[in-house]
Order: sequence, then C-alpha cells, then structure tokens
Amino acid sequence: MKIEDFKSLKEIHEYFAVHNKCALKATATQPVYEIVKPKSGIVFIGEAPGMNEDKQGRPFVGAAGKLLDELLKIVGYSREDVYVTNVVKYRPPNNREPLPEEKDACRVWINAELLFLKPKVIIPLGKHALERFIPNLKISLAHGQAYEHSTQIPIFAMYHPAVALYNPTLKSTLEEDFKKLKIFLEGKIPLLKYENLEEHENVLSNEKRSLVDDLLKL
Ligand code: URA
Repeated sequence: MKIEDFKSLKEIHEYFAVHNKCALKATATQPVYEIVKPKSGIVFIGEAPGMNEDKQGRPFVGAAGKLLDELLKIVGYSREDVYVTNVVKYRPPNNREPLPEEKDACRVWINAELLFLKPKVIIPLGKHALERFIPNLKISLAHGQAYEHSTQIPIFAMYHPAVALYNPTLKSTLEEDFKKLKIFLEGKIPLLKYENLEEHENVLSNEKRSLVDDLLKL
C-alpha cells in the first residue's frame, strides 16, 4: 500500500486494524484511534490506550485525557484542534507498558497516520513515543524542548500526562512545558540538534528499519 491509496484517516485505520500483527489485538476490545484531521497540524503521541479508551475506541478519554484537555487550554487549543494517537493502538492487559514487539507491530500504522497528516509538530508524550523519534534520549532531559528530526518535522518532547495525575511537581512541569510549546508555536524557540542521532541503536535492526522506512519514507 502507498499513502496515496488512502483517502481518509478512517480508511488508514480500517486497513491497519486488519493488517497488523500486534498480539494485543487478542485481548483488547478494539483498536483506538481518531479519524479527524486537525487544522492546527499538531499531533500528540501517547503510549497505549487504557480501560476507558479500550471501551470507547477513542484515545485519551480517561483521566489523563482530561488533564491533556486542561493543558491544551494553555496553548489556546481544545481537543478538536489537535490530533492524538498512541504508540500502540490496543490496550495492553492491566495497563502494563507496551512491549518492543507490540510497538514494532504498530510502527507502520503510525507512519501511515503521520504521512497522511503531515504534522507541523509532533509531540511525543512520555518515553515510549519519544524513543520512536529520538532513541536513547531521556524524557527527563528532553521535555519542554523542540528537536530537529530527519523528517523535517520538529519533535517537541513532553512528559506523559498520566505521570502528573498524582504528582503536583510534574503537573507544574507539564504546565511550564505547555507554556514553552505556545512560545515554540509562535516561532520563538529554535530547534535543538540531536547530534548523536545516527549513532543510537533503535529497537528495530537497521535492516528492518530501512525496509519500513523505504515503505513509508518516514
Ligand atoms: N494514555 C495513553 O497513552 N493513551 C491513551 O489513549 C490514554 C491514556
């Protein structure tokens, strides 16, 4: 499949919901995704759906989603203005962290979403989404900063809102980072270079990675 073969996000999701080998499919109720392209070009990428998302088939509809909505107000946006997706599209049992093979199985699906959306900025929420773009960079160092990426799409790193739910310090950090995001969106923060990007190993072997990259050029 080429990205031009898809006419809508809905078509992309329906295709990859069938054509994926993610083992979480067996235990989840359904895949979780959004189908509306946002005007802002802002794309958030979370970790994995939780119980509420699994029930409703929509990302970030639980407690972390409510906090995300609150934080979005700092930037002057509401949920409808942005796109939210996840590293894996299915809920891991008992909300455990997604495994490397589960993330790999959903990799092409996210690539297709991003190719279709052509984001202005990608905002990984937490370590699982960050490592997808900048492997081995710690979220504790990267949060609140925008990085150059080989796709030419800036990567603005953020903590995952779930970590701030019961931690007031991290909640203030997230609020500060959303203020920085606003300034970045106004074009007032330069992009950082991540010098050692090429040296870092990713979860995928180089051979597998180039196959996937060739397929979707991302
Ligand atoms: N946490 C995530 O990472 N994604 C969701 O969709 C909900 C909570």
